[in-house]
Formats: sequence, C-alpha cells, structure tokens
Amino acid sequence: MQASISPLKSLMTNSFSVPCKPLLQWYRANLRELPWRHTSDPYQIWVSEIMLQQTQVKTVLPRYQQWFQLFPSIQHLAVAPLDDVLKAWEGLGYYRRARFIHAAAQQIIAKHDGVFPEQFDAIVNLPGIGKSTAGAIASFCFDMNTPVLDGNVKRVLKRWHELPEATDKQLWRLAQTAIDTSQKFATWNQAMMELGATMCQAHRAQCDDCPVSKHCKSAFSNIEKQPSNKKKTAVKDVFWQINLHTHPDKGLWLQQRPNKGIWASLWTPPIIELDTRPNVEPCYIHLLTHRRLHFYTIQSKSEPVSKGRWVTDITDLALPTGIHRLLSKYHINTMG
Ligand code: SF4
Repeated sequence: MQASISPLKSLMTNSFSVPCKPLLQWYRANLRELPWRHTSDPYQIWVSEIMLQQTQVKTVLPRYQQWFQLFPSIQHLAVAPLDDVLKAWEGLGYYRRARFIHAAAQQIIAKHDGVFPEQFDAIVNLPGIGKSTAGAIASFCFDMNTPVLDGNVKRVLKRWHELPEATDKQLWRLAQTAIDTSQKFATWNQAMMELGATMCQAHRAQCDDCPVSKHCKSAFSNIEKQPSNKKKTAVKDVFWQINLHTHPDKGLWLQQRPNKGIWASLWTPPIIELDTRPNVEPCYIHLLTHRRLHFYTIQSKSEPVSKGRWVTDITDLALPTGIHRLLSKYHINTMG
C-alpha cells in the first residue's frame, strides 16, 4: 500500500514553479520610497528592521530619521543612557525592542570592536535579533543567501501554497526553497515583504492586481474573509490606582518602573496594583497586547512619600503612551 504524502512533503518533493520574474518586475516598478531602501549600512538596516517589527511604516518614518540625529553611530548608541534610548523610542511601543537595541550596541562594542558583525551566527546572537531579522540584515547588507520570514512573508507563502496551518519550521523550508538562486536574495526578500505588506494583506488580498496570481493556489478565493486560525490571545484585566501628585512649582511626581514587566524602565506617576475591580468607573482604560489596564486616579497636592522625583518638563523622560493620554485628560501635558 502506498503511504500518503502530506501536502507540504509533496510540495517539497515536486518541483515548484517560482513566480520570480513577475514578482521582481512588480517590485521594481512599485516599491515604496523608504529611507532604508537607499542604504546597505547594517546599523541603519538593523534599526529599521527592529522599528518595523511591530509598528506601522508611517509611525516609524519620523522616528527613524530622528534616531540617527540622536545616535549617529553604534558607538553613540552604546554609550547613551538607557533613558535617552527609551525616550527616542517613545510612541513606537514595545519598548523591549529599545532595550535590546541598546544592549546589542554595547555587545557590538564589547565583542566585535564596534563593527556590526558580518557572520549570520554572530548577527543572530545579538540581543533582540531573531532568525528573520538576521536574514534581512545578512541579505540586505552582506549579500548572503538568507531568507526572511516575517509576518508578511509567512502569509504570502501560506497563501501561495494553500497551507493555512503550516508551521514555522515548514515555512522556513518553503522560504529557503522558494528563492530563485540566480537572483539576489536581498531583492527577493524585499519583494516578498513588499507583496505581503501592500498587495496580500491579512484583510485585503488584491488578487486582481497581484503579479503572482497565476501561481498562487489561494488566488481569488476570498481568503481574507475566511476565519483566522490564529489563537486569540487572552487579555487580562488589571486595575491600577494612579497617584497624581502635582505641585505648582515642582511639577509632577514621577518614578521609574522596574526593569522588568509592564512598561519596564519607563517613567510614570506612582502606581498601586489593586487586587479587585473598584466599584467606580475607571477614568481611563489603556489596551496592551495581553492586558487591559484600568486606571483609577487619585489627585493629591501633598508631598509624596513614594520613591521618585519631581519633574517640571515631562518631555525630558520616556513616558508610556497610556500615561501621556491620562495626563492630557488632566491637562498635565503642557508642563515645561
Ligand atoms: S494572488 Fe491573492 S492571495 Fe495570492 S499572493 Fe497574490 S494577493 Fe495574495
């Protein structure tokens, strides 16, 4: 009796016609003008890749330009205080990335004489750099044959092959084999990322205009309307009492959060986590990926007893967006 072959195995064992030419032609004619497309400098590519991981291009653009004014080189970044790095990251969210970039810059100084490493293994060992980001840096900057497998590329590969349940391991194999090795990996990776970001979006697949529709098994199948098999993340409710101490001359009392947990190392008014939901409406609710933060504010003119310091200009420190929004509700955003 013949053993049955899984769709992925069959795909690996049969030759797969790679729609390379039309994809690359489309990419060259349609690529968005973005500053990181005009450089192969690893520092600039690295920063762009990390900023773009969980933040939209339009939010990244002004921060990206500003970043290199503040930290023109890896050396400048490595010696900068973490507070300055977090401040430069303000508005991009997921501050863990900023702490990793800072730590990686210090590692490059300590272990690589201040020069961004060119070996894939060394790149992927830097804090905050996974296999996909390392693949992007290695192919864009050092012409290495390393695929990228970010969220956009994963979606495109799953749709091309009609494998909505494919695991990351399977997708890595597909990403490696999909590339036409006669082409530059860098261009291929860019084209795949661009296709996923603009043409083959999660909720909008423009199959009519897609350069690879003839080769795609999911083309014109209303895939964006199909229920997602992605497990929904449980969101936990958290109740925070926020103590707003203000003083007409001294400003606002802020303290730095611990270097682990929600909003690690950022500055906030004193926060007390409550065990139960209070019987009053929260004055503000802020949503994080896994948490719904309910804020209950207590305003006070008295001298605070908690650790912290008076701040007259909050623009000097990195505050989370949720706290900025809360302060603006109380008109405390115009100090300085
Ligand atoms: S044909 Fe449609 S589903 Fe397939 S890659 Fe293009 S946009 Fe995505």
